[in-house]
Amino acid sequence: MADQETDHAYGTAAPDAPATRTELERAIRNLNLADLELRDTLLKLAARVVALTDELTRRIDGVEPLPAPPGTPAPPPTRTVEAATDAAVQSTLTAIRVSDARLATRVSLDYGGPKYTTESPAIPCAELIPLCHARCCALSFALSTEDLDEGVICWDYGQPYLIRQRASDGYCVHNDPDGRGCTVHSFRPRVCRSYDCRGDKRVWIDYDQRIPAPLVRGQIETTVDPEPREFDLVERARARSTAFSREVISIGESYAEPAPRKGPKPSR
Ligand code: SF4
Repeated sequence: MADQETDHAYGTAAPDAPATRTELERAIRNLNLADLELRDTLLKLAARVVALTDELTRRIDGVEPLPAPPGTPAPPPTRTVEAATDAAVQSTLTAIRVSDARLATRVSLDYGGPKYTTESPAIPCAELIPLCHARCCALSFALSTEDLDEGVICWDYGQPYLIRQRASDGYCVHNDPDGRGCTVHSFRPRVCRSYDCRGDKRVWIDYDQRIPAPLVRGQIETTVDPEPREFDLVERARARSTAFSREVISIGESYAEPAPRKGPKPSR
């Protein structure tokens, strides 16, 4: 009798039923979005406070606020404090978001576009792997909402949404440690498809001469990344916003359950 009851699609689950990886990742993605939303609300509040403080500095002290040189006279006011603050909020918010984009602790999400239409540079990877040891597959980068939705490419739960890497050699978990090939080639992320190693000093001392960068105990130096220019940071801050809007839509339009599930009959 009990077996017959559990044969119905009640949509319930036993209290000790295991959670799937899909369920876990959906929950983590939702928590990350809640964190980002809260953080963005704080940044907006901070922008208003900074804009207001700047305007009061002009009105009360008669000087331009930092980063202007000390003692720079402020022009006479032409509008109310409220109107002047409103006008300055957006540019102040952009500056604050740019600073925020520099922080390594931020949740990272790729925003470069759909992966299946991404063109790859003409590099004979299979031919070069014996020389370069696919060291590009030990670089760290963020996945996209498209990757997260597919659920094939693994990400680092401790550093969302960076590609998951192995402690043993620092490579991406999808890299074959013997032949150094990609074991998920048809699903590989957009960054893997568009990446061009030819000018990257972490990979090649000289690509044309086929002189690879040194390997240190099988690992490559992944921290040599040029400081992004201010313009890049502004673009990055804008694109982050777009990327997370996509993430909000994707989570909001997805379902927690793929199909009817058979579970125990509710006791009450
Ligand atoms: S997904 Fe494939 S191509 Fe991309 S880093 Fe991992 S092993 Fe390399």
